[in-house]
Amino acid sequence: MAKDRLAGVLERYEAVIGLEIHTELTSLNSKMFCGCPVAFGGEPNTRVCPVCLGMPGALPVPNEAAVEATVLAGLALDCEIAPFSQFHRKQYFYPDMPKDYQISQYDLPFCGLGHLDIEVDGEGAKQRVDLDGGPYATRIGVTRIHLEEDTGKMVHVGGSEGRIAGADHSLVDFNRAGTPLMELVSEPDIRTPEEARRFAQKLRLIMLNLGVSDCSMEEGSMRVDGNVSIRLRGETELGTKTEIKNMNSFKALHDALAFEIVRQADVLDEGGRIVQETRHWDVTAKRTSALRSKEEAHDYRYFPEPDMVPFEFSAGWIDAIRARLPELPDARRERFMRDFGLSSADARTLSEDVEFAAFFEEAVALAGTPLAKPIANWMLGDFSAYLNAGTVALSDAKVTPAMLAELVQVIDAGTISGKQAKQVFTEMAETGDAPGAIIEIRGMKQVSDTGAIEAAVERVIIANPDEVASYRAGKTTLIGWFVGQVMREMRGQGNPSLVNEILVKKLG
Ligand code: ADP
Ligand code: ZN
Ligand code: MG
Repeated sequence: MAKDRLAGVLERYEAVIGLEIHTELTSLNSKMFCGCPVAFGGEPNTRVCPVCLGMPGALPVPNEAAVEATVLAGLALDCEIAPFSQFHRKQYFYPDMPKDYQISQYDLPFCGLGHLDIEVDGEGAKQRVDLDGGPYATRIGVTRIHLEEDTGKMVHVGGSEGRIAGADHSLVDFNRAGTPLMELVSEPDIRTPEEARRFAQKLRLIMLNLGVSDCSMEEGSMRVDGNVSIRLRGETELGTKTEIKNMNSFKALHDALAFEIVRQADVLDEGGRIVQETRHWDVTAKRTSALRSKEEAHDYRYFPEPDMVPFEFSAGWIDAIRARLPELPDARRERFMRDFGLSSADARTLSEDVEFAAFFEEAVALAGTPLAKPIANWMLGDFSAYLNAGTVALSDAKVTPAMLAELVQVIDAGTISGKQAKQVFTEMAETGDAPGAIIEIRGMKQVSDTGAIEAAVERVIIANPDEVASYRAGKTTLIGWFVGQVMREMRGQGNPSLVNEILVKKLG
């Protein structure tokens, strides 16, 4: 579907989007209400016990670390932490849920109103602000964050893989059943598919920084559902929404919302009405299709979980969790700008990923703050290109912070030229040898010995009397050519600025 279609629709209609984001707490050692381990995949039905299989008489015991992780996430998003909260039973039948109810939270979740600030610099900017399409920042409200247990997984076999329609039977794997699952609900504050993507991406970065989940969209440890409606620009009432499921990448989230906005506009333009329903994103066909009509909260017959007492968090307990909050990407970015004089864009890229940021800081600590900028340049330039080209994970790279620190130091000291440094970097990334060793073996040392440079300059002057005459007659642009001759004479190892300086002196 063409991007222009969306842009055209958004001229007339305003889109209203709210996201529901499930994050599995994959970093925890055990499931939500039992001691079974949390892990992805594995031999089916090997990580199960009477509790997560819903056997009669089995009793749930809440996982304290999961409660703490949810409150930690709430604090990271400036949510109000409830002084009183509790689990509820949400009743419905599905074969991957052995108890026929899911232990979740209803009207008393752990975390209430909070927010997340996002930045958008491109598509959609025009539709957000009244306006000219420049970059902008906007605050998206967070309605709540609650904790629940994940379901098992259905495996549809015999037909075309993964599609109920084509399969001839289904198997159930309960390994995932009972995995701690955090659900965040956003306010309907999002206005474009691009904003939705930014929101989900930023939330993922924060969760990764908190270390509570591996947030893999592909493996389903982070799952985003999109609620979307449209209304004529200027209208204040909300339109009827549809909810889209099955988007397992950020691109899918963006594309599904874009498709749905255009679809809804087509329906309204033809005089039709939007039906409130759940729709399925088909990533191959690139369209949404109706899955089921929307169920209401009262259909689930929520009632307080009788096997667990409610929670009362004291202010002291909440403060102790708050004290565990790590530095988050936004704060780190500001610190990088302030302490190292980096641009906002560079600081953002360097600060988002925990490991990348730590690598940068370690290199700066070794090389000294004045070399922070060149270190940032190497990391965002050659180093990133190297990692991306070979899809090498930072943790698998042979380059260490100490090597990068040494590299910028030798460049700064004038030992090697910028051009030689690129060669050294390539070799260091491939072999894992330190810059000093590479420079030694390759005999790369840049010559800054003025005696040696002067001798080379003399030889070039004597060998090229005509050029010297033209230069002295006023054709000073020949200086570049002279520098080239001297560099050739010195096999590329002369310090270029010294060569230049000495040439000007001798020719003048
Ligand atoms: P439901 O009762 O259908 O579950 P909720 O009010 O709980 O709806 O909201 C679920 C999600 O849908 C939230 O993220 C919310 O922001 C979003 N939402 C609610 N109403 C609309 C609407 N009219 N258009 C778009 N999103 C909406
Ligand atoms: Zn179990
Ligand atoms: Mg709801």
